[in-house]
Amino acid sequence: MPTCPNCNSKVTELLKTWPIVEPGKNGEIVECVVGIYWCTKCKIKFPYVVGKHDLRLIEKRELVELHEKIKILDKVKQDLAEKVDQLEKEKIMAEGNLMLTKLEDKAENLKVEISLLREVKKEIEDMIDYLEHNLSLKTSGQSLESKMQY
Ligand SMILES: [Zn+2]
Repeated sequence: MPTCPNCNSKVTELLKTWPIVEPGKNGEIVECVVGIYWCTKCKIKFPYVVGKHDLRLIEKRELVELHEKIKILDKVKQDLAEKVDQLEKEKIMAEGNLMLTKLEDKAENLKVEISLLREVKKEIEDMIDYLEHNLSLKTSGQSLESKMQY
């Protein structure tokens, strides 16, 4: 906020503004916005720099080229964003497929295991059958023997 050069009080009464363009360093251009303020106490007008921008003179063709470049880069950026989205989707699908493949492998392994266990079970059953048969033959033989002892 500007202060009055006469009474040093803060002044908010802005009467008008206009831009001033001046050459700056390194071929830059400085645009100042100058305002005319009005001190209500002293009843005087004084100028004050409201804003300052560093500008650069640039050929129109160059500016158009820069805009084109920005457009192309925006398009590239958009394409990349779409690709990332697509890859994310593919990743999720691949993870799902991988899990499915793993489960299928597991199921296949379990099938093999079950068939093996069935074989083992059958063998055990056969063995039990055989043992029971032999045992019954033996006991009946024993009982026959014991009967014969009497
Ligand atoms: Zn004043």
